Amino acid sequence: MNILIIGSGGREHALAWKMAASPLTDKLYCAPGNAGIAQEAECLPLDIGDHAAVIALCKEKRVDFVVVGPEVPLCAGIVDDLEGAGIKAFGPTKWAARLEGSKGFTKDLCKANNIPTAAYERFKSAGPAKEHVRKKGAPIVVKADGLAAGKGVVVAESVQEAEAAIDMMFGGGLGSPAWEIVIEECLVGEEASFFALCDGETAIQLASAQDHKRVGDGDKGPNTGGMGAYSPAPIMTEAMNKRVMDEIIYPTVRALAHAGAPYKGVFFAGLMITKDGPKLIEYNVRFGDPECQVLMLRLMSDLVPALLAARDGQLKNFDLRWYPDAALTVVMAAKGYPGNYNKGSVIEGLEAAAQIEGVEIFHAGTKGEDGKILANGGRVLNICARGKTVREAQTRAYQAVDRIKWPDGFCRRDIGWRAIEREK
Ligand code: AMP
Repeated sequence: MNILIIGSGGREHALAWKMAASPLTDKLYCAPGNAGIAQEAECLPLDIGDHAAVIALCKEKRVDFVVVGPEVPLCAGIVDDLEGAGIKAFGPTKWAARLEGSKGFTKDLCKANNIPTAAYERFKSAGPAKEHVRKKGAPIVVKADGLAAGKGVVVAESVQEAEAAIDMMFGGGLGSPAWEIVIEECLVGEEASFFALCDGETAIQLASAQDHKRVGDGDKGPNTGGMGAYSPAPIMTEAMNKRVMDEIIYPTVRALAHAGAPYKGVFFAGLMITKDGPKLIEYNVRFGDPECQVLMLRLMSDLVPALLAARDGQLKNFDLRWYPDAALTVVMAAKGYPGNYNKGSVIEGLEAAAQIEGVEIFHAGTKGEDGKILANGGRVLNICARGKTVREAQTRAYQAVDRIKWPDGFCRRDIGWRAIEREK
């Protein structure tokens, strides 16, 4: 098959690495891709927001199957448009992608189907929202409806902070004024990321993972897109996984099928494991980044037939095998991230770093120029490693980090600390 991956980050590099190894792949393309992905696939410069251009390219290159990485094109309906043009595509429709695109939609779906989640109210203006916050007290969580690249959530420690968040969101602080916000109860527990593939009817669980969202060691400082991750998540025991499938994933699958919009694609459920059991924090409708990178390192089976089976409604008798090893990834970012940072600095030492046993390096934001690799984004590299334990994977990943010569970059030095504490 000729396969096109849409996207340009570390997640897409990991998908490309895995899919390039499939005997089913004849030719692999990625649009727009990056310098690392170019080692696995032919990168095509393309505006992925222009669906007509994507379709035209698929026809020209005789693409049989498109795998969409990020949420923005999914929420914009790229799968509907590709399928409408007769091109098979992996990912949910625009309607179903509202699971990520609209927090209000997802919360209402949870309520209607008894899916455990934080108690909530929806608001269209600041006055009643603030009144609600004053009544409930802090801590309390304020979320803008719609995609906000991870910036639309404020976990407020005080009523004052919550009120400021409400004013910021309705006042256009996220770019444009929020048309609706959700205010919800603050859940207490340990977070985990849960993944399942779904073909509209059947869902199969993938490996679990945990990520580190804060920029600094000890999980301090501002939130980011993710500074590292590891798999499996020790808190996700077999019994807990089963509860998540029974109490969260399957009720969602049935509700969407019942609504006439069966969900095909990957569910990425952000969970809080509370003393009362798993609760859904949010759904994402694509693989996590950087969680995808550690899942791909642990996946023993071929990914291509699994994604095709999800698209074709054939997951019922499907089984995926995983390496028992742990995997961990350290994100190297440009100094200044998640605030302002420079692009264009030179990165060296990647080859030496990749030679360490068990190490795989994925590019998140790079570009190639005159044979050099240049930083081209906030999160720039994912230094990944497998090991018998999270500790071993961590040691290998940091050995590789130490071989990379990039004075303008930085990373956290404690990725995986929670799991390593448990291993002790
Ligand atoms: P989200 O974008 O919905 O994943 O939220 C970003 C982060 O905010 C989550 O990973 C949690 O750490 C935190 N968060 C969101 N909702 C809640 C909640 N109801 N209770 C506690 N923390 C939350």
